[in-house]
Amino acid sequence: MAPTPETSTNPGHGFSTRAVHVGHDPDPGTGDVVPPLHIASTHVQDGVETLRGGYEYGRGANPTRDAFEAALADLEGGGAALAFPSGMSAEDTLVRVLTRPGDHVSFGDDVYGGTYRLFTVVRPAEGLRATAVDPADVEAVERTVRRNGSRLVWVETPSNPLLEVFDIAALADAAHRGGALLVVDNTFASPYLQHPLAQGADLVVHSTTKYVGGHSDLIGGAVVVAEGLRLPDRPGGSGADGGWTGTGEVAQELRFLQSAVGSVQSPRDAHLAHRGLKTLAVRMERHSASALALAEHLRDHPAVRAVHYPGLAEDPGHDLAARQMRASGGVLSFEVADGATARRVAESTHVFSLAVSLGAAESLIEYPPVMTHAVKQGARWAVPEGIVRLSVGLEDVEDLVADIDAALEAAGA
Ligand SMILES: *Cc1c(COP(=O)(O)O)cnc(C)c1O
Repeated sequence: MAPTPETSTNPGHGFSTRAVHVGHDPDPGTGDVVPPLHIASTHVQDGVETLRGGYEYGRGANPTRDAFEAALADLEGGGAALAFPSGMSAEDTLVRVLTRPGDHVSFGDDVYGGTYRLFTVVRPAEGLRATAVDPADVEAVERTVRRNGSRLVWVETPSNPLLEVFDIAALADAAHRGGALLVVDNTFASPYLQHPLAQGADLVVHSTTKYVGGHSDLIGGAVVVAEGLRLPDRPGGSGADGGWTGTGEVAQELRFLQSAVGSVQSPRDAHLAHRGLKTLAVRMERHSASALALAEHLRDHPAVRAVHYPGLAEDPGHDLAARQMRASGGVLSFEVADGATARRVAESTHVFSLAVSLGAAESLIEYPPVMTHAVKQGARWAVPEGIVRLSVGLEDVEDLVADIDAALEAAGA
């Protein structure tokens, strides 16, 4: 159905206008202003092989999921988006589409623990080769790609939990010169703060569990594909890679595998994730402003040895973040004297809740070495012992500052 004039959006509209409107028009029958929740697993057919609106069975396509995917693709500036039941299922499906046994992946040494496990434990058992690289050293990334014939480079920026910022445009050039695709995990920035595809990345992944959903009430993931992206040719003369579909188009390959293995987000979770997009801009502005205020406060606290937040003028990632991000986001970390103190700080807050995850209305605190980053213990790129990570929520910032101050004192920091 053609969009009604009141609600049609165009590419010239700003982020928030598109976030509120793209992906659905008022229901023609009822006038619903929000997309309805379609929970049907199967759809009546008008004749054998005559589908109504293209819908057949919920594992293949669902109208609620389609609406969310259309909105996310638009907001990331991509050609297509696909919604998965978790961030990890999105990542796993993407890696299966882009690699075959024996292929190589270069991944940032500071990536999410689950991603690290995917590349160091899970997929190597099926023949994938993977090498951790420091994405700050773009020349080293290019050398690693060329030496190993990497199919893809995988980075996360800002990184977790050290909030390092990496140069997406330079990494995209390095990956492309070596014949690889660049995947950026945009979970920490969200599509409001950063557009990796516009800076040369080929694919974006999200844990929509975090900022996109924004309310700690769903698990979800997504892949966004650059318009027209094709599988890179395989070196060594085997020529173009047509994949399973024979088209060589990454979006089609992803759709095929997602449906084939059943890695689809439920309509209820897709509906919640779509609702999250509508408030993403205002939430990210507030998360970023409060995180900056906390970072500035902690920087001047005598018990704090270091603060990691690119919004701080003296942070090593500040200038790059100012170039490639709209603001610095809601996650920051800081270091106290030692691991025992950091643990006590994490256990001493009352407004911040002790929990893994991030990106929601509720402020969360955690001790990465044994919580989110336990998988990296003992590795070269293990996180510092005295580190505490904060996900700054939407509470009043004065209450958050007072809570952290009281926790530092209670912990004897
Ligand atoms: C949480 C997270 C993931 C994994 O997503 P799930 O939804 O938990 O499967 C991947 N990347 C980053 C940066 C994350 O924070």
